[in-house]
Amino acid sequence: MRYADEAAPGDALSDPHTSRRSFLRSTSAGVTSVALGASVAASAGSPPAHAADTDASDPAARRGTRPLAVTPACSGQETPASIEGPLFKPRSPARSDLITPAIRGVRLDLSGVVYDTACKPLPETLIEFWQCDQNGDYDTSGFSLRGHQYTDSRGAYRLRTIIPRDYWGRWGQRAPHIHTQVQASGGPVLITQLYFPDDTQAYGRDFTALNAADRLLNRACTIRLTGPENDRYAGTFDFVITTTVQAAPRTV
Ligand code: FE
Repeated sequence: MRYADEAAPGDALSDPHTSRRSFLRSTSAGVTSVALGASVAASAGSPPAHAADTDASDPAARRGTRPLAVTPACSGQETPASIEGPLFKPRSPARSDLITPAIRGVRLDLSGVVYDTACKPLPETLIEFWQCDQNGDYDTSGFSLRGHQYTDSRGAYRLRTIIPRDYWGRWGQRAPHIHTQVQASGGPVLITQLYFPDDTQAYGRDFTALNAADRLLNRACTIRLTGPENDRYAGTFDFVITTTVQAAPRTV
């Protein structure tokens, strides 16, 4: 187990992406830096209307001729990147259920959809999750609380896990967060971290204070949380990623 996980700026990553499985064929330090350095992509048009978002009282909407988006499913804005930290491990097991007998934290069922910047759902997209346990420890000898999966035909994913504990690392106080990598086939890797709302209740911790103290936290990467119900939270987070590798600027 390791406790603090965040690399300081300029630190080499612990595991070169080039050693990852073949799906990550385009994953290299260069590609990663493209993903990390990418600015927020401009919206590529209006989000598509979804049947579930239509106003049933509107005749045109009922006829399907003028669907109204009540809650946009996708902003088209690329999910912000964050640092990977040194505790990523390649070749994690393919699984969406990270709960094992040793894991006794506050349960979380996380789900969502991966979109491209035109708000088109992305099937067969790789998502990798890794996180610390209920004590703030990362498993570096095995693969506890680590796993990868692919989105289904609707671009959806599901993860059965726990809310991670906060910990103190080289970046100072870290609020609870889940590390994530997302990559459409042939596209760049989005590396980011997901956070929890201020009113989350877990481990007797003050999430408002923890979130405020975390220098890496990005509110745009906050999971939408409901519950707890039957001792578990339900969370949703939709990713928006770019699917094309951007060419590096030419230098003369
Ligand atoms: Fe971490």
